[in-house]
Order: sequence, then C-alpha cells, then structure tokens
Amino acid sequence: MVSRFVDRVVIHVAAGSGGNGCASVHREKFKPLGGPDGGNGGNGGDVVLTVDSNVHTLLDFHFRPHADAGSGKQGQGANKDGATGENLELKVPDGTVILTEGGEILADLVGHGTRFVAAQGGRGGLGNASLASKARRAPGFALLGEPGETRDLVLELRSVADAGLLGFPSAGKSSLISVLSSAKPKIADYPFTTLVPNLGVVTAGESVYTMADVPGLIPGASQGKGLGLDFLRHIERCSVLVHVVDCATYEPGRDPLSDIDALEEELARYTPALGGTLADRPRLVVLNKIDVPEARELAELVRADVAARGLPVFEVSTATREGLRELNFALAKIIEDDRASKPAPEPTRIVLRPTAVDDAGFTVVEDPDEDGAFIVLGERPMRWVRQTDFGNSEAVGYLGDRLARLGVEEALARAGARPGCPVTIGSITFDWEPSTPAGVAVMMHGRGSDPRLDLSDRIGASERKAAKIARRTGTEDDDE
Ligand code: GDP
Ligand code: MG
Repeated sequence: MVSRFVDRVVIHVAAGSGGNGCASVHREKFKPLGGPDGGNGGNGGDVVLTVDSNVHTLLDFHFRPHADAGSGKQGQGANKDGATGENLELKVPDGTVILTEGGEILADLVGHGTRFVAAQGGRGGLGNASLASKARRAPGFALLGEPGETRDLVLELRSVADAGLLGFPSAGKSSLISVLSSAKPKIADYPFTTLVPNLGVVTAGESVYTMADVPGLIPGASQGKGLGLDFLRHIERCSVLVHVVDCATYEPGRDPLSDIDALEEELARYTPALGGTLADRPRLVVLNKIDVPEARELAELVRADVAARGLPVFEVSTATREGLRELNFALAKIIEDDRASKPAPEPTRIVLRPTAVDDAGFTVVEDPDEDGAFIVLGERPMRWVRQTDFGNSEAVGYLGDRLARLGVEEALARAGARPGCPVTIGSITFDWEPSTPAGVAVMMHGRGSDPRLDLSDRIGASERKAAKIARRTGTEDDDE
C-alpha cells in the first residue's frame, strides 16, 4: 500500500556516478610519446538529508519521491580532472527518522542542520597519470568511475514537540495550540493540513516550549486501527502528554472518563520505536469548553474522578481563555523539570552516514545457484571490477594484478575452485584460470599487448614474478 500520510514517505535516492578517468599521453614536437597526462574523473555528488527547522512536513517527498544527485565529469588530457558532481541537499523536518524498508532505524535526525548522507556518490576513476608508477610508466588505460549508491529509504516524522495533545476529533486541540502559541508554522498551503501535526511555540514567563496537536487519535490506535498508530509516533519524544476532553458536545454512551481511559489504554499498549514507554510519561487532563454552561457542569462532575486516576486536571475554555494561564505554567514546569533531568543536547552537528562497510576484507563463497562455481564478496574486489574497462586489455591486466595481490587467487584455490570454474565478482563472471596470480587477466585477454608497455626492465620484484607467470598463457598447471 502506498502511504498517503505526509509524515511517512518512501523515497528513492540515487547519488551521482563518478566520472571516468582519462587515458591520454602528452604530445610535444619531437617527442612523439610523452608522459601519461590523463586526469581523474570527478566524484559523484551525494544525496544528503538535512534538518531544516522551517520544514514541517514530508509532503514534498510524497509528490517527488525520486531524488538524484549530479554525476562527476570525465577526466581529460593535460592532467585536467573532471568536475565533481553536485550534492543534492534535501530538507527534512526536525525529528525525521530514517528507516530501511524492513523497518530498521538508520538515523534519527534531531536538531537544525543535522545531516545524513542518504546515498554516497560514486568515486571518480583515476586517470592514467595517477595510475603511472615505476612498474607501469605509461598506462594505456584509466579506471572507470563508479556508479553512485542507490537506496530506498523510509522517512518518518516523529515530532520534537515538548507537549503532545491527545484527544478525540473536535475536542479543541487545534484551538488550544492556536490560543497558546505565538508562532505558527505555515502549513495552511498544504491540502492535508488535518493530517499534518500542528506545531506551535508557546511562551510561559521565561520558558519557551513547543506543543504538537496529534490528529486523528482514536481507540484501537495502538493496534493500527484507523490513523491512530501513525500519529502516536509523534508523541514519542514529548515530555508531557495532554488529554484534551470536549465537555460540551457529548454523544450518548460516551463520557469524559471513558474517553480518557480509552486513550490511556492506547498509550499503555504502544511501543515507541525510539525506546522507553509512553505509560510513564507525565500526563495531564484538560477539560475544555467550560464557557458552555453544560460543559462547566460536566467538568465539575468528573473532576474528582479524573484526579482519582492520578492525573492533574485543568478546566479551560479556549474560547474565553479561562484557565489557560494555569495550564500553560503547569506544562512549562513539567517540561523544564524534564529538560533539567536530561543531558544537554549535543552542540555539534553530526554527519550520520549509512552503516560503514568493511572495506578491507573479502570472502570466497560457493555459488548457491551453480555447482562448482564461486563468488568473491568484498567491497574492494567488487569496486575494482566496477572500475575496470573490460574492453581494454591493460585495464583487465591491472585488475588481475590487484586481485592477485589481495590474495583472491589463493583464497579461491583454498576454497576448492577448479580450473575453468566460474567465479563471480560483482556483476562479472570469469572462467577461473588458477595457474597465474593474475589469472583473471590472462583468461580475458592476455596482457602486455600495448606496444608502449615493456615490462621486462622496469618492474618491481613482486610484479616481475606475477608477470612472468602471466606470460605462460595456456598452461594448465596447478597453483601449488
Ligand atoms: P480538534 O479537532 O481537537 O483540533 O478541535 P478544534 O480545535 O478544531 O475545535 C473543534 C471545534 O470546537 C471548533 O468548532 C472550535 O471552535 C470548538 N471549540 C474549541 N474550543 C472551544 C471552547 O473552549 N469553547 C467552545 N464553545 N468551542 C470550542
Ligand atoms: Mg485539529
């Protein structure tokens, strides 16, 4: 089901790809073959979510769930590096929680300016100038840029209000916020105003706190009935919860006490995703609309019973403002006490990143889909494959050398790989040629076909050995 609530959206983010590196050789008069001068490709841009306290809804994502950052440009000759792809910054409301589609919380974004890298841009490929070394003075290839990360993420808004208002529809929650608060967010432009939690800033003497109206809470909410469950998450962070009870318009079979009991039950049943419980949260009861004579009578009637449940009671009218001052200062006191009991908020802006990958290692596993086939798993080998231009024999040779140096050949042999068996790394499947450390390269194209490449007199000791074995193409000896 596609969620229609503006406080929960699924977004698809795609970071920019890295630009390809450039393979170029510097040319001058009388010097037909100069040094390599191909520049590096630019890195792709990231998709970043940034908390902006002026944003109060996820509605924009509801209409535009796809977000792509800019790609890096290709490197060029004369050592010109490609331009970096532009980051895409997406503004989210304070209190946005980032989850996987499976429901795992990746980050909880609280505080203006907090950033979350939702998708990381691909690295630009190195140009041949950067790839040149003693062993490889004039590489005739460059590395490809890597694709940017793509992810599907769930954004859920859990409001950061200090006080959360609970109550049946038309109890007077919105009215209470509007008469108490001095600043109101501009949410009237949005079509789903009633589904967006209303947030107001309230002043009580020296203290300033925020108050949220949680719409649509009905009995059964904690079991996902109606809209309720979706909105209960908005009160997870509140220091105090306020039951707003309409004493003026009573339907037969309902009374303030059973309304309060029904909502209390929802709170007790709900398990906050951010931890803790709602049952132990300070709560108080507001009996509203006492400007209506019958309402005042009813309020006086139930006051003692509510108090007997251990909940402080306030009788108010948002119409005449009667009782509001006492309520306001009582809320401020609870919130100030709660703030004093908590550690001071982190002053620095934290850049949260998706779970770090283990960059160093790799593993060899048997391919579950094919007998005698193997898969190499690991961030580095997979990245190297992505960076390889398989149309270029030198580039493939370079990949073979890298894999051999990392120990992939050895690990495959230990895992029981047989000559000619399929080995998959990332999106590429090779026929494994175990007789050479750089076997992958040999199988694909052979190496050293570039006439500029004369390995014999300029390679380092370790590479020399690999190259020597690599020239014995076609041998079927075991690697022992
Ligand atoms: P919500 O659904 O809980 O947000 O309720 P609203 O704040 O939208 O109010 C519902 C209705 O009750 C509106 O028509 C308000 O004008 C009315 N109302 C709210 N507070 C009072 C009050 O103190 N006295 C009277 N007479 N009506 C009120
Ligand atoms: Mg309302």
